[in-house]
Amino acid sequence: MSERVCLVHYHEIGLKGKNRSTFENRLLSNLSHALKGSGAQKVRRISGHVLVESEDGLATPQMARTIAQVPGVARVSLAYRCALDEEEYCAAAVRALQEVESPWESFKVHARRSSTNYERHTLEMNRIVGSALCDAFPTKKVLMHGPDMTVIVHAVQGDVYVYADTGPGVGGLPVGTAGKVVSLFSSGFDSPVATWMVGRRGAVCVPIHFSGRPMTSDASEWLCQDLVEALAPAGIIGRMYVVPFGDRQREISLVVPQSLRVIMYRRVMFAVAERIALLEGAKALVTGESLGQVASQTLDNIAVVNEMVSMPVLRPLIGSDKQEIMRRAEQIGTHEISSQDAPDCCTLFMPRRPETHARVREVHEAWDAFDHDEMIEQLVRDIEYVDFNQCPSYKPPRELRARHLELAPAEW
Ligand code: ATP
Ligand code: MG
Repeated sequence: MSERVCLVHYHEIGLKGKNRSTFENRLLSNLSHALKGSGAQKVRRISGHVLVESEDGLATPQMARTIAQVPGVARVSLAYRCALDEEEYCAAAVRALQEVESPWESFKVHARRSSTNYERHTLEMNRIVGSALCDAFPTKKVLMHGPDMTVIVHAVQGDVYVYADTGPGVGGLPVGTAGKVVSLFSSGFDSPVATWMVGRRGAVCVPIHFSGRPMTSDASEWLCQDLVEALAPAGIIGRMYVVPFGDRQREISLVVPQSLRVIMYRRVMFAVAERIALLEGAKALVTGESLGQVASQTLDNIAVVNEMVSMPVLRPLIGSDKQEIMRRAEQIGTHEISSQDAPDCCTLFMPRRPETHARVREVHEAWDAFDHDEMIEQLVRDIEYVDFNQCPSYKPPRELRARHLELAPAEW
C-alpha cells in the first residue's frame, strides 16, 4: 500500500532569482516549526516542491491544513507516494479520485517526470493511468480542456507521486525573508488582520499593545494574547509588547482640549512604537487603519499622527471595507476573539466629539501642554512583553533596557 505524503507547491519563490535558496530554506524551517507535534517527520525539497513525510507514512488532512496556513505556500496536495510500478500508481490514481469530496464529472491525467531515469514517457504514463481510470469510473468523461479534476502523476527520482485534489495555501512569502515590523495591535478586528497581511508577505511581526491598565482591567491584554495564539499557524510573531497606558492617558486628558485627546494618545503610541521598532531592528510600523473608518482615520488626522515618526508606516487595510476585513478575520481565525469587547486605551477617556480634521497648529499647542518626551521615555522604560514560540526567525533584541536610551531619535 502506498505511503501518504504532503506535497507543497510554491510559486512566488521561484521568481526570486538568486535568492531562491534562501527563500526555500526559510520555507523549509518555517514548515518544520509549524508542523512540530503533528507527526510530521521530515520536511525536504524535491524537484521544485517541498515534501513532508510523516512518522507513520500516513500524512493527514490536518497536516495539509496546517501547511496551507504557512506563508509562502501556494498549494498543498495530500499525495500517494508509489514505486515506479504501473499497477501501484494506477491504483493510487483510482483511490485519489475516489477520495475527492466535491462532485465531479470529467477528468484528465497529467503525467510529469523530473530527475528520474524511469523508462516510460509521460505520454505513455498518461495513457496507462487514463485507461485504468476509465475502467474504474466508466460514467465519467475524459476532457482535455477544463476538466473538473486533474490527476497528477509525477515521477521524481525513484518514486511516483499521485494526487487529484489540491488545496490552496495562503500564498505570500516565507516569514523571515522581508525583515521585521512593529505592529500597533489592539483586540479589534483590523489590526490582527493588518498584522497577518504584512506577515504573509514575509515580515516578522512584533505587536505592541497599549492597554488602559491600571485605569481599566487587563482584559484587552488577554484578548491580544489570544489573538496572537490564533495567528500561530502563520508563524509570524515571536514577542508581543504591552504598554500600560491608563495613567498617562489620564494625564493627557487633564491638560489637552477634549477633541484632541485621541490624537495625542495616538502620537504617543506611534512614538513609543517607533522606539521599540528601533530597539528591535524593525524597519516599519504597521497599523490597521482604514481611510475614514473612524474620526482618527481621516487624512488630516493620519497626517498629524504620522509626523511623529520617521520610519515608514504600513497600512495594509487603508482601502478595505469593514466587511472585507471581517471576512479575512474569519479566515485567519481572529474574528471570534475580536468580537469580544474589552476596554483598552482607545476606549478610555474618549471625547464625545473627537476632532475629525485636526489643525496642525492646534495639535502642536496641545502636544506642548504636557511633557511628552518624559512620558515617552517612561513608557518605553516600563514596557512589558510576552514571548511566543511561534516564529523561528524572530530574534529578540539583546539588551532591551540598556539600549533604548542610546537609540532614542534625537529630535521630534
Ligand atoms: P482595530 O480594530 O484594529 O482596533 P479600530 O477600527 O478600532 O482598529 P482605531 O481605534 O482608530 O481603529 O485604531 C486604528 C489603529 O490604531 C488600529 O488598527 C491599531 O493599529 C492601532 N491601535 C488602536 N488601538 C490600539 C491599542 N490599544 N494598542 C495598539 N494599537 C492600537
Ligand atoms: Mg480599536
